[in-house]
Amino acid sequence: MPQSSVSTGAKPRKVPRILILGGGTVGLYSAQRLRRRLGHREAAIVVVDPRPYMTYAPFLPEAAAGSIDARHVVAPHVRALKGVDVLQGKVSEIKHADRTVQITPEEGEPYWVTYDHLIVGLGSVARTLPIPGLAEEAIGFKNVEEAIAVRNHVLGRIDLASSTWDADLRKRMLTFTFVGGGFAGVEAIAEVEDMARDAIKQYASLEESDLRFVLVEGSRRILPEVSEELGGYTLEQLRKRGIEVFLSTFLNSCVDGHVVLSDGTEFDSETIVWTAGVKANPVLANSDLPLDRMGRVTALATLQIADETGNIVPDAYAAGDCAAVPDLYNPGAFCPPNAQHALRQAKHLADNLALVLRSAQPTEYKHKNVGAVASLGMYKGVAQMFGKIKVRGFFAWVLHRTYHVMAMPTWNRKINIMAGWTANLLWRREVVPLGSIHDPRAEFRAASVPPKPKAEPAADHSPVPSTEAKAPATA
Ligand SMILES: Cc1cc2nc3c(=O)[nH]c(=O)nc-3n(C[C@H](O)[C@H](O)[C@H](O)COP(=O)(O)OP(=O)(O)OC[C@H]3O[C@@H](n4cnc5c(N)ncnc54)[C@H](O)[C@@H]3O)c2cc1C
Repeated sequence: MPQSSVSTGAKPRKVPRILILGGGTVGLYSAQRLRRRLGHREAAIVVVDPRPYMTYAPFLPEAAAGSIDARHVVAPHVRALKGVDVLQGKVSEIKHADRTVQITPEEGEPYWVTYDHLIVGLGSVARTLPIPGLAEEAIGFKNVEEAIAVRNHVLGRIDLASSTWDADLRKRMLTFTFVGGGFAGVEAIAEVEDMARDAIKQYASLEESDLRFVLVEGSRRILPEVSEELGGYTLEQLRKRGIEVFLSTFLNSCVDGHVVLSDGTEFDSETIVWTAGVKANPVLANSDLPLDRMGRVTALATLQIADETGNIVPDAYAAGDCAAVPDLYNPGAFCPPNAQHALRQAKHLADNLALVLRSAQPTEYKHKNVGAVASLGMYKGVAQMFGKIKVRGFFAWVLHRTYHVMAMPTWNRKINIMAGWTANLLWRREVVPLGSIHDPRAEFRAASVPPKPKAEPAADHSPVPSTEAKAPATA
């Protein structure tokens, strides 16, 4: 977007500007739909995101396991958002009363952008707790950078452990702890464990039994998104594979990688992955939009932002993980934070905004959960469709892959993912650790020759010249 079109004053515009905060599921799908619905003379569309791509999070566990190339679980904005202006930067403040948003770019000064209509799709962040050691030792699992880091870290630990004679150190390196037994946590541990078992076969000095995977879940069951029966089946499958699952148990501390659980269990683990839930993007607290006590923007079923008494905030819409949208199929409840809702809400929101711009009435968003599918490693999965149909094992895994590859934005990505799966079936997946990718300058730093210290000027013992001698000759 040319800088000249980012105005800082509230000048009247010929073409109304729709500003979309966040270029994730909600941002990408609402922008695409709006561009299709509205001509360039009807609206200018601007998306703001610090990342130049949308991440399809349901594929992160497979990206961590190397079943999908990490580049293929993201859809670059420049490719997916034709006819839409993209601003790279973080939204740092929202003043809807003035129709302005402050954007902080990675480099340079923050600036303000004005708009006529606002869409809030800022998503969520990891919900953490003040647990000693957590901030220093653990890693989240919400974005592609974290998924790649987990993969390289796990493969790197296996590689290092193969050359270690210290039994305690080896045990610590090969103990992998995941906290949170929802979809993200269960899929992540199941996929990564499957990859680790594949990888360890390559090392003559290591046994499969050297690997220890631990899942810690605070509630009495895992996968609350599916029925008790399927959750129980998944638990049984994980335990059969040797994954230790602690239910009704909390992580109390993990200082220096020493894990202490609420039931008194203690062990050392060099890998702690935190997947225990999400909360609405905290930047929303820096806005004049109405929020509920969980920090979500409150919205009507039409996806228009409204306060808790139902008063509509004009020209403002919200959807996805950061919004409290009533679930009309479950009166009194809100739509759960998942891609299934975010994607559909985004399209519905765009349709409603197009209707409003053409002076028509918006309609209510209503979606009955179509079910849930989860992958538990190669050829393993669980699925529950339309509430009643329960599928396990290979067919659930095929369902998972089919459902998500169809939902993945852009045909280019769909085809690349399917090509990668086919290649993995033929040649097995790649399990090489690329840990140094996270500090690529380390070797160069070590090889760099420090600049020579400047030589001190030699002490001058000559007599101080007299001012007379220096004085210019006068006529
Ligand atoms: C590991 C994992 C597995 C999952 N699996 C499933 C699944 O199997 N099925 C399912 O239905 N759901 C799944 N989900 C949940 C699903 O991915 C989310 O519910 C969905 O992506 C929410 O969409 P959103 O647009 O609200 O947020 P996001 O898609 O997260 O988009 C938010 C966007 O806002 C941007 N942003 C953040 N801060 C700022 C800022 N200050 N300024 C500007 N932009 C900002 C982010 O960069 C991001 O692009 C999974 C999530 C994870 C993490």
